[in-house]
Amino acid sequence: MSRAKTLYIVIPCYDEEEVIQKTADCLREKLTSLIKNDVISRQSRILFVNDGSKDRTWSLIKDLHQAYPQYFTGISLSRNRGHQNALLAGLMTAKQSADIIISMDADLQDDINVIDKMLKKYQAGAEIVYGVRSSRKKDTFFKRITAEGFYKFMKLMGVDIVFNHADYRLTSNKVLNELERYQEVNLFLRGIFPLIGYNSDIVYYERQERFAGKSKYPLTKMLGFAWDGISSFSVKPLRVIAVLGCVITALSAVVLLYSLIVNMLGQTVQGWTFIVCSIWLMGGMQTFFLGIIGEYIGKIYSETKARPRYCIAENLQVKPENAKD
Ligand code: UDP
Ligand code: MG
Repeated sequence: MSRAKTLYIVIPCYDEEEVIQKTADCLREKLTSLIKNDVISRQSRILFVNDGSKDRTWSLIKDLHQAYPQYFTGISLSRNRGHQNALLAGLMTAKQSADIIISMDADLQDDINVIDKMLKKYQAGAEIVYGVRSSRKKDTFFKRITAEGFYKFMKLMGVDIVFNHADYRLTSNKVLNELERYQEVNLFLRGIFPLIGYNSDIVYYERQERFAGKSKYPLTKMLGFAWDGISSFSVKPLRVIAVLGCVITALSAVVLLYSLIVNMLGQTVQGWTFIVCSIWLMGGMQTFFLGIIGEYIGKIYSETKARPRYCIAENLQVKPENAKD
């Protein structure tokens, strides 16, 4: 029988003292049953990432580690760096010890019972398994509309993301080694994983309400996050400027025709035709030129990101380690 794989569950926590104990209890139970059924190894752990919390979160994590070192471990960032950075820190730490890594939030909004399904899909060959919300019944109307609008807008902007998937996902160690090659500072992880590629699959779950504590994503932060996602993945907004410039320039021909007719009918004051036509033509041309500059800025933007241009999944060229020349 093949060796059971080691699983790490990575959980970023920012001021989560109210939820951490219950979350830890539920996950410990889950981990115990998975280990007992030989689905994962005894080296599997729950890794909490303290993202510069100002409350007792870190001391609770340390207590958990002390009480059950065989289940809980943790890292603490020097200050609050935001969800995505905290998650990255956790993933990079976990991949040093784990074969499989699952990321989830601290508030148990993501159903932990689908972990079994995720592991099954992994065993069936998926390197990434996305947790997708099958419904948002428990979300407020406002959250549902804004969140779903966000995913649709991202698609429109040409960003390849999985609809209704946040950061509840399973990834293999191999995928995280690829993620490490993405050196960008403005992180939007859910956009990067589809870029990495490999076999992926989806599991559906119902998103629960937060059982305690407050959401760390108020509207302003959510809007900032959405804009970060778009501006980190798409140059389409820049391209829209160039298109707009062309449209205004084309319209200026119509305006020229209109103002000439009005002029010939003698219904204008002197100089009006010239000024109106100039405004439209210059406005259109300036917007168009801005768009051209935007194209170059877009190129600089993708060059500075220095994303890997490919990832080799399999290579028949490589000789086995002990092969003779
Ligand atoms: N989080 C974090 N750093 C932050 C903000 C949030 O590590 O600066 C964590 C938080 O503790 C939680 C997860 O990110 O585990 C998601 O946050 P939350 O549940 O508040 O977001 P929501 O589910 O309301 O979108
Ligand atoms: Mg939450």
